Amino acid sequence: MCGIVGYIGRDRAGSVMLDGLKRLEYRGYDSAGMAIMNGQGLETTRRTGRVAELEKALGNSPGGRLGISHTRWATHGDVTEENAHPHVSSDEKIAVVHNGVIENYLSMKKFLIEKGYTFQSETDTEALANLIAYHYAKEPEVAGKSRFLESVRKSLRHVEGAYGIAVICTDYPDELIGARKGSPLIVGIGKGENLIASDVNAITQCTQNVIYLNDGEVVHLQKEEFAITSASSKDVEAIIHQVDWDTSEAELGDFQHFMEKEIFEQPTALENGMRGRFSDDGSTAFFGGLNLSPRDLCNVDRILFIACGTAWHACLVAEYLIERYARIPVEVEYASEFRYRNAPLDKNTLVFAISQSGETIDTLAALREAKRKGYRTLSINNSVGSTIARECDGGIYQHAGPEIGVASTKAFTSQVMLAAMVALYLGRIRNLSFDQGTQIVEALKELPKQVREILGQSDHIASIAKKYAQAEDFLFLGRQLMFPIALEGALKLKEVSYIHAEGYPAAEMKHGPIALISPECPSVFLATSGGIFPKSLANMQEVKARKGPIICVASEDCDLPAEIIDDLIKVPESHDIVRPILMSIPVQLLSYYIALERGCDVDKPRNLAKSVTVE
Ligand code: GLU
Repeated sequence: MCGIVGYIGRDRAGSVMLDGLKRLEYRGYDSAGMAIMNGQGLETTRRTGRVAELEKALGNSPGGRLGISHTRWATHGDVTEENAHPHVSSDEKIAVVHNGVIENYLSMKKFLIEKGYTFQSETDTEALANLIAYHYAKEPEVAGKSRFLESVRKSLRHVEGAYGIAVICTDYPDELIGARKGSPLIVGIGKGENLIASDVNAITQCTQNVIYLNDGEVVHLQKEEFAITSASSKDVEAIIHQVDWDTSEAELGDFQHFMEKEIFEQPTALENGMRGRFSDDGSTAFFGGLNLSPRDLCNVDRILFIACGTAWHACLVAEYLIERYARIPVEVEYASEFRYRNAPLDKNTLVFAISQSGETIDTLAALREAKRKGYRTLSINNSVGSTIARECDGGIYQHAGPEIGVASTKAFTSQVMLAAMVALYLGRIRNLSFDQGTQIVEALKELPKQVREILGQSDHIASIAKKYAQAEDFLFLGRQLMFPIALEGALKLKEVSYIHAEGYPAAEMKHGPIALISPECPSVFLATSGGIFPKSLANMQEVKARKGPIICVASEDCDLPAEIIDDLIKVPESHDIVRPILMSIPVQLLSYYIALERGCDVDKPRNLAKSVTVE
């Protein structure tokens, strides 16, 4: 969601920022803009629509030694050029780009209008630009101190809400300031150049050395120097991290879309997530960073998973798996609900957050709420050094590589696999035998190969997609472990193809969604063999009796009467614990190919953003 790139250094600010904005495009945005300081002063260019529009407006290789840039995902005010960032104060001294929401901007605006400042946009951000200008105008000149920095600090003390910002001042052509509270911001340390960005992806073409800012921190950058201060103006000793991502990992290569690339990367992502995490005797999993001993974990009476979106579906799978294999009661909550509802929790509850980016604002806030109340917190996330990873007591990194596609695919299956490994680990501490453990480890090790086999059916799945691409409603139905995958299948299809889709426990269908069944509304059934299979079959019969087309994703050992299935996608037989992962792959491919058939922009689905950093 919304992106920031700021640059100070050599005469290439414009081109570096443009490149950075393109790398952030995947996050979802509706307009883009840039302010560059060149010899003549501040030059601001803004456009609605794609970064390509901004690029066109900027002309050939925009230079400058200092600049800030932004991709906006509108929260306050329409998608217009006037509302796009950067916002410049009415005295034309201060330019700001901002991610997040300034909640008290109306009172701020009223105050500033009384002081003679004027407003061109409907955004909350412009109030901050003018507030900094107001403090700057009042700030006395003190030797050895930057008036600019002092005025930013003073202004931020009055801000309520969330922000990641980059600020420049026309009187200070050699200084760039960044600050964060709630929204992510990182600092890139280069050679003779320094950067600020909302996401590591934006700057890895310049440097691999990054600092993750903490909430309340302000960074003051010059081309060869940087200084970070805390909310209370104390100097902060920065830790510089080496980013281990290869820039090419965030490029398309031979694929048409990131979503496609990431679906096909799943065998490798799964391999990377399990590498080095099985015990030598092959009977359990272990994790380096949990910071909880088996004894601590034995005392856990309940686990609460918190997440948003696709990660919430991964949590639902975790619930089934942990309850089944470790016999620990699990609850799953939407982070946005949990954070405000003051839920009563048992004191031996372990709180587990799942977030691909590790920056999802609601998940972070819910986690902080749990910490405030003294609960132990763990996380599963994909971004090393992310805020959630840093703030939890311990956690598990996914090592799935950068996920650029807005519709999560490889991050989801990797989260589900790690949930299965957590279930195994907790189960082996409690009630699973050595033999049960080895069977599960073997099943997990087989997984990448089986996923490759399913990916080999992509042409078959593409032909099914073609057949149903014009449907306007879809149902996704599954029971038990397949229920969360039905939810995820429906979400995936909605996200990329804009088809109305609902995921339901197959038997629940009779309590409402059955009214949708018609020859025009296909149902995707997720069926696995075992005790519940005859029940799933009965649900399919119910759909067929109402002339609903059935696409069945089924494990190879399911005995399916040909006359009720219109289209069949088979997945290899496996241990129950890995089935949610295997069954996810056809569902992802189906959504992807249907979206292509409908001419949708799969990597930039309308209105959506990758990592949701506003409430
Ligand atoms: N609230 C600001 C706006 O609507 C920033 C939105 C964003 O995070 O991109 O302009």
